[in-house]
Amino acid sequence: MTRLALIMAMQVEAVPVIAALGATTVPPPTHLGPLPGRLYQSNRDGVDVTVAVNGIDSRHGVANIGTQPAALATWATALHIQPDLIVSIGAAGGWAGRGAAVGDLVVSDGPVVYHDRRIAMPRFDDYGVGFYPSLPANRLAAALDAKLGTVTTSNSLDETDDDRRMIAANGGDAKEMEAAAVAWVAEMFGIPFVAIKAITDLVDSPTATADQFDANLDIAAARLARAAQDLISFASATPLTDFGS
Ligand code: SAH
Repeated sequence: MTRLALIMAMQVEAVPVIAALGATTVPPPTHLGPLPGRLYQSNRDGVDVTVAVNGIDSRHGVANIGTQPAALATWATALHIQPDLIVSIGAAGGWAGRGAAVGDLVVSDGPVVYHDRRIAMPRFDDYGVGFYPSLPANRLAAALDAKLGTVTTSNSLDETDDDRRMIAANGGDAKEMEAAAVAWVAEMFGIPFVAIKAITDLVDSPTATADQFDANLDIAAARLARAAQDLISFASATPLTDFGS
């Protein structure tokens, strides 16, 4: 593999990753029109790495988290860089009841799903869940010292009763707000996709998710930085067909 794209939502989670990779800012592809984020690049172990960070919302002054910025950033990066692999990498919630702990790393296993797109009509119900493929990656997970798990996406930080029902139906080990959108675009381009998520909060804990997130973001971001370095070492030596078995 020669070209790798890492799609990240928030600058705060991306800073340690960018530093660990020694990546520097590159100009955005202006011919594509306005884009929500910033691009960073580095070359490590013969792999050209592009980190796309979704930037700050100009109206609200907060990070462009969620699916729309993630889809746009992935589309622009795929077009501009033509990566061999697209990775949705960032923070996520986990469930203590499913064995998760803060700081755990989860690599996507099987399809990435949505848990907030409820469309009770034939075929649209499955369209809503998405079921976007992720690259078989059990060997990558072992190399990253990560668990394998189902990544489930919505545009909300909390978990409603309806979300809970959908998560129970389709599984969920890492709950976040971007991966399914990134995977959808990756599939459209025919580019392999994998998600790598560090657990910042436990959805089934009595402590508010936002408080856990703020308290644990540094731990998770450091974990992601190590994961990004290990990913590149692994990818430089391993064909995509051998990421999993
Ligand atoms: N408090 C933060 C906002 C974090 S939003 C701030 O002040 O900026 C959550 C971000 O982390 C999203 O990008 C999402 O992908 C991920 N995330 C972490 N835990 C999550 C959870 N339990 N549910 C949904 N997304 C979560």
